[in-house]
Amino acid sequence: MPTKKLFLLPGDGIGPEVMAEVEKIAAFLGEAGVAHFEMEKGLVGGSAYDAHGKAISEGDMALAKAADAVLFGAVGGPKWDGVPYDVRPEAGLLRLRKDLELFANLRPAVCFPAIADASSLKREIVEGLDIMIVRELTGGVYFGEPKEIIDLGNGQKRGIDTQVYDTYEIERIGRVAFDLAKQRSNKVTSSDKRNVMKSGVLWHEVMSALHKREYPEVTLEHQLADALGMQLVRWPKQFDVIVTDNLFGDMLSDVAAMLTGSLGMLPSASLGDTDPKTGTRRALYEPVHGSAPDIAGKGRANPLAMIGSFAMALRYSFGLAAAAEQLSRGMADVLASGLRTADIRGDATSVVSTSEMGEAVLQALRKATV
Ligand code: NAD
Repeated sequence: MPTKKLFLLPGDGIGPEVMAEVEKIAAFLGEAGVAHFEMEKGLVGGSAYDAHGKAISEGDMALAKAADAVLFGAVGGPKWDGVPYDVRPEAGLLRLRKDLELFANLRPAVCFPAIADASSLKREIVEGLDIMIVRELTGGVYFGEPKEIIDLGNGQKRGIDTQVYDTYEIERIGRVAFDLAKQRSNKVTSSDKRNVMKSGVLWHEVMSALHKREYPEVTLEHQLADALGMQLVRWPKQFDVIVTDNLFGDMLSDVAAMLTGSLGMLPSASLGDTDPKTGTRRALYEPVHGSAPDIAGKGRANPLAMIGSFAMALRYSFGLAAAAEQLSRGMADVLASGLRTADIRGDATSVVSTSEMGEAVLQALRKATV
């Protein structure tokens, strides 16, 4: 049985509540002989600030670097609204992304048939939807220099951000997208704004060349980012893997998120480069939602985004595709049986707590694993 090092950073608010459900599932996979997870736990965000005066300690950063995968809950809350900018809760997540060099953000948008009515779009548009948005996470206009506000001296100021991409950055995110497509429906849609941006011209050129050179067996299409935004809400099932830059990816992945209904259902992964010596890659898995201070401590959080993030870890970090599939099917079965947390209650007459939902998924997994 393989042993995997899992570093847990539950964080603040509902983070620890949803992480607790993943811990039970990971422990069960150990008992069932699927894989043994060596789990260590650290502090991040407000809880790290309270303990160490910073959003993540050096010791916990070292553990994150040594782990096979990091599982992250959520950070932040009103308690830490006034803390200095450098040590605000989000700084912990940004430090992890930067130091682990996590350049690829994977956001699946999967619509479970049982809760298709929770989407703001019609059931037939979203039912059975399964797309993956791959967003470049460490480059582009969020990081490009110069980045400043300058005083023009005539009562005017000028705000400047710089969109910049090098060939290697486009190639490495392109490879992530093409490799994913090969395990899915074999189609990549690359999105840019080459009609108005030079970085878009290069993005298009590099993606096309990479496709021709390394992935001719995958279907590649290009769509301008604005057109893709329209297509996402018109007929999202036309897509398989969408790859785009940091800025467009930020917006388009949020649009795609809403197709599926609730924030409590959305997992994500952030991946780094593969180490050529070990074949492994740094990775952090986290739900898209925040720390939800309005419901923290009440047992009302939906744990499925966190559990779905763990399913992604099983698939992308641990090569346990069958276990990932069983876990995802377990979640679908539980939803199909009518179980609902408050955020996805729809017409349901009763709702279950965080731990009841986690327990139901565990039971479904237990049945599938027997
Ligand atoms: P949020 O995602 O925490 O909550 C938005 C709404 O969705 C709330 O009504 C909340 O109750 C609900 N919600 C979120 N997750 C849910 C779940 N699993 N189950 C049921 N309902 C859920 O966003 P926010 O309210 O804008 O931010 C709250 C705090 O979280 C802020 O401090 C913010 O900075 C932080 N935040 C952190 C992250 C992160 O850690 N990655 C992401 C976003 C926001």
